[in-house]
Amino acid sequence: MNSTDRQICTDAWDGPGAGPGAVAPPIYQTSLFAKASFEEFVRQQAAEHENFVYSRGTNPTVAFLEERLALLERGEAAKCFASGMGAIGAVLGGLLRSGDHVLFVNTVYGPTLELAEHLERFGVEHTVLTAPDADVEEHIRDNTALIYVESPGTMLMKVLDLRALTAIARRRGVRTVMDNTWSTPLFQKPLTAGVDLVVHSLTKYIGGHSDVVGGAVVGSSETIREIFYRGHQLFGAAMSAMEAALVLRGLRTLPVRMEQHQRNALAVVDHLLAHPEVDAVHHPHADHGPAADVISSQFSGLSGLLSFELREGTFARVSRFVDALEVFRIGVSWGGYESLVTSPVRPWDDPAGPGLIRLSVGLEDVQSQLDDLDGAFEALSRSTAP
Ligand code: PLP
Repeated sequence: MNSTDRQICTDAWDGPGAGPGAVAPPIYQTSLFAKASFEEFVRQQAAEHENFVYSRGTNPTVAFLEERLALLERGEAAKCFASGMGAIGAVLGGLLRSGDHVLFVNTVYGPTLELAEHLERFGVEHTVLTAPDADVEEHIRDNTALIYVESPGTMLMKVLDLRALTAIARRRGVRTVMDNTWSTPLFQKPLTAGVDLVVHSLTKYIGGHSDVVGGAVVGSSETIREIFYRGHQLFGAAMSAMEAALVLRGLRTLPVRMEQHQRNALAVVDHLLAHPEVDAVHHPHADHGPAADVISSQFSGLSGLLSFELREGTFARVSRFVDALEVFRIGVSWGGYESLVTSPVRPWDDPAGPGLIRLSVGLEDVQSQLDDLDGAFEALSRSTAP
């Protein structure tokens, strides 16, 4: 993590109406912005992406957050949305047209793939390559318009070589999009590795307090303008000023929180790796395979979302383990201050499958997290259930 990024996270408000020394950004709780003359109104409305006209499009509080996100990702511009899915929907719905093909690489967030399924109805085809080492070039078609990746994916945390991937995409004239929610721009900067567009769920680490849902897209000014007029304005998943203020509050402490998430996560990974009940741990810190060099060159830190495989991962054993946890609370989402646990294992699954359990390692005292896991392993060993 570098000092420039720390500065960007804590920069003072420099937008309109800087006010009498208020250190928190003003919340522009207004739906529209009245203009001094009709001529000014017409001129500003004609370039609505860079003027404050109507808050479904632009708003000063939201714009301040967009500026910070663009700076952190080293992009030219950013656009915020009401959710991560709002951002992803605006990218896919705004940039693709009937007859296009999208290539998804790695284990991509489920609803993103469901959206791709939905887009088939509008003539947009797609292919999903879940293996991180799949031969991407072999699957690029003449009509491939986008390669969409997550690195790491957020279930198995497998990492892609972004430079190798973007070199292929550029040679073949295909735009690349990456969901960078896992790393945050503090730990990985995909645009500097040649990716064209980055999307975020701000709901996770950047918001950080589990009290706001939001999303963002970062890229070149030209592409963000294209997304603004098609995917943002027309689909209408706008972020409100109040939500932007909450995300900005999260951004202030993002560097210190990410350092703590990393410290705790590495301790949890090491602890799990040493446990006889654990078959495998999925986190870049535990990845000593062919991706290890890419991991050390591509990341400046590692976040706190990881998964592991419980030996004999039947639904009964996974439930017993998860139910015995107290510090790790059962729930969806991740990246907040609090530790969370979930699992894709279902009662109707093959009982011989891997007992995958996902942990979002929060900011609590790390020893309480390790003790909590040990307590759950003990609950397993006390049980005689299959
Ligand atoms: N991307 C990833 C990797 C996610 O995990 C999520 C949500 O869990 C999203 C995108 C969607 O974000 P949101 O829930 O803010 O719509």
